Amino acid sequence: MTGHVSIVGAGPGDPELLTRRAVARLRAADLVLYDALVDIRVLDFAKRAQRFFVGKRAGRHSMGQPAIHALMIRAARKGRRVVRLKGGDPFVFGRGGEEALALGAAGVPFDVVPGITSAVAAPALAGIPVTHRGLASAFLVVSGHDEAAFASAIGQLQPNGVTVVVLMGVGRSAALAGVLLDKGWARDTPAAMVCGASTPRQQAWYGRLDDVASDAIAIDSADPGTLIIGDVVTIASQIEKRGRESRPLFRSQIMGERYVGR
Ligand code: SAH
Repeated sequence: MTGHVSIVGAGPGDPELLTRRAVARLRAADLVLYDALVDIRVLDFAKRAQRFFVGKRAGRHSMGQPAIHALMIRAARKGRRVVRLKGGDPFVFGRGGEEALALGAAGVPFDVVPGITSAVAAPALAGIPVTHRGLASAFLVVSGHDEAAFASAIGQLQPNGVTVVVLMGVGRSAALAGVLLDKGWARDTPAAMVCGASTPRQQAWYGRLDDVASDAIAIDSADPGTLIIGDVVTIASQIEKRGRESRPLFRSQIMGERYVGR
């Protein structure tokens, strides 16, 4: 008897942002292998499943990638329905592709359930559209994990030509902003940092690229953060203004608890 593996995106945190298919897979699961960024509330849907944390904690891998592959393959071969649960979308900086390749090579049936990526949801929940007519017709999602890799991804882009969305860049945001300034991006390019998007702890900071470069982001959060750089950031304050005029609730829904204006 062969089981099945679903590589499932859990979205940015709030369980209401799960897809219906993700919920169905979780309800049917015998085993859930989840990462550090998965919101614990999401696991409540997997009532009958054994749940296993396989992510990184305090910078240490509790389980290496080959071990995760082996565990999924073994469980599926025993006939179990496995959910491999990842934050956001499983194929955006989530190593989901590697896992799909390993399952395919092992002949284990699997499917992929896309999730709402924080690359789009974190800006959206802070009132920032990643594209906007007249302001940005493209956006780049880039890892800030490694400064050299970031510099090469930014590469030959025309300065201020696209919206830049940086994941995994919280600790290095000043250096990353420095890279953009070196490449000729304007010092007053609007920028924002959104931490814990969609969670009750969501915080957003709005400022300029040179603030980011001088490490002046006024946000104190243990949650993961997404950095957004580009003119689209100015839309947030316009949405906020209109929202306040028309619907009093809009501000807190969009901005979270703490809104730091420019
Ligand atoms: N697969 C995930 C991204 C994994 S990389 C996705 O599609 O969302 C992890 C990075 O995602 C974090 O370093 C952070 O930059 C971002 N991130 C994840 N959850 C977030 C959240 N709730 N709010 C803001 N950024 C988040």
